[in-house]
Amino acid sequence: MADEPKKPERENQSVLDDIGALAKGLKTTLGEYFSPQVTTEYPEEKSPRSERYRGRHYLRRYDNGLERCIGCELCAAACPVGCILVIAAENSDENRVSPGERYAKTYEINMLRCIFCGYCEEACPVQAIVLGPEYELSDTSREKFIYTKEKLLEPLPPDVQARLDSRPHPDPLPPAGEGKT
Ligand code: SF4
Ligand code: SF4
Repeated sequence: MADEPKKPERENQSVLDDIGALAKGLKTTLGEYFSPQVTTEYPEEKSPRSERYRGRHYLRRYDNGLERCIGCELCAAACPVGCILVIAAENSDENRVSPGERYAKTYEINMLRCIFCGYCEEACPVQAIVLGPEYELSDTSREKFIYTKEKLLEPLPPDVQARLDSRPHPDPLPPAGEGKT
């Protein structure tokens, strides 16, 4: 039978094990300390979103100020949850709002029901409705989640415009003389 280590030897071994464990822990701590920082200082900093991220909606205008939306309601028909309301009205020479025969007198999206599928954007024949990258959509009442036409017509943020500009196919042109992209 092998001799048992003497008491001082066992204590020395125990101290060496403790120092080894301490060094191992310190190695982990120092490794993390000097590794690149991954914490994002939200909300000052925002993590990058995919180019195809679908967030808040916008309605677009042509460069001459006319609204792109022609009130065709294709977006409302394509919406799987029925959260778009379009009520169209006729354009007239005295009140021309869009290049087409009609324009959207009322355009509303219930953002509480929207599932951000992007079908409305795909269905629109004149690329009037687009989804941008904005995802901070919290608010203080249910009513504020009904996005009205006025809110949807707010100027496009630069990153949304850049995304549109980078598309392989240019925007469709409006009828001659009534607008341009
Ligand atoms: S993103 Fe989808 S759910 Fe939301 S309004 Fe458009 S079609 Fe409807
Ligand atoms: S946003 Fe597009 S699809 Fe929807 S009503 Fe206007 S033109 Fe038609």
